[in-house]
Amino acid sequence: MSSTTIPASFRLERRPLDLRFRMTRLAARQWLTPGYVRVRLAGEDLRGFDSLGADDHIRVFFPDSAPETVEQLRAAPSREYTPLGWDAEAGWLDLEFAIHGGGVAASWAATAELGAVAGVGGPRGSMIITGRPDGWLLAGDETAVPAMRRYARSMDAASVGRIIVEVADADHELPIDAPAGVIVEQLHRGTDAAGVALARRLNALTPANRPDGDVFAFVAAEQAIVKPARALLQERWALPTDAFVTKGYWKRGESEYHAPH
Ligand SMILES: Cc1cc2nc3c(=O)[nH]c(=O)nc-3n(C[C@H](O)[C@H](O)[C@H](O)COP(=O)(O)OP(=O)(O)OC[C@H]3O[C@@H](n4cnc5c(N)ncnc54)[C@H](O)[C@@H]3O)c2cc1C
Repeated sequence: MSSTTIPASFRLERRPLDLRFRMTRLAARQWLTPGYVRVRLAGEDLRGFDSLGADDHIRVFFPDSAPETVEQLRAAPSREYTPLGWDAEAGWLDLEFAIHGGGVAASWAATAELGAVAGVGGPRGSMIITGRPDGWLLAGDETAVPAMRRYARSMDAASVGRIIVEVADADHELPIDAPAGVIVEQLHRGTDAAGVALARRLNALTPANRPDGDVFAFVAAEQAIVKPARALLQERWALPTDAFVTKGYWKRGESEYHAPH
């Protein structure tokens, strides 16, 4: 008896990109909630900027005063952020920052003066989806909202699935535009530590909640989310490891956390 291999409806593919370093300036700031801000970086160097993958990241450098040389800018503290939108001809790039208790990036996004210099390195490569997932699961905290917004933008009108966003409370909800067949849930962490409500929600999802067919999943938040995410995706939903991404985007108590790639 010959067995038939059913091809997956999509594949995740890696695409390298030439690493470039760009000098930009803060051009605009828009508060979306009291704890979440969208900033626009602009400058000649951003002409030609591109980002192929929804969960791409760039390294943003935050000098505390205007650097005189590129070397000084490169020596400034840096953190990882997700390109949300850009215009490669006009030369601007939008990012969104979760504003938390303290940290060079969050403080800069909240308080830097318009015109302040920031460096941008990358993205150095992308993971892109080729084909069309039959179903989607996106889950994360504020830090993953830009990536989830980009994944949601890539869905077509008939897409089905679920997006779960953990935020502080009703005043901090971050709506994500998605097709009608995609349920968007806003979880409130309340007084619980970051990630507890999201982990509880993932733990409550059963095989019956799995969308049919080939499912793509992306889960990113405080790094403790990785374990419950894998328990859901690998064990209860039996997704192949090359059909999902789960990543710690930050680590409690640790500055400048580097997620293992
Ligand atoms: C691939 C990738 C993409 C990312 N994209 C985005 C993005 O688009 N937008 C975004 O906001 N973040 C994003 N992050 C997360 C961001 O890089 C981290 O939150 C980063 O640590 C923030 O830097 P900071 O200088 O503000 O704080 P740090 O100096 O790194 O940390 C200072 C303190 O703040 C804590 N902390 C850090 N982040 C948070 C948080 N979100 N909430 C509560 N406490 C925190 C740390 O545990 C530490 O105790 C991304 C991370 C990765 C790995």
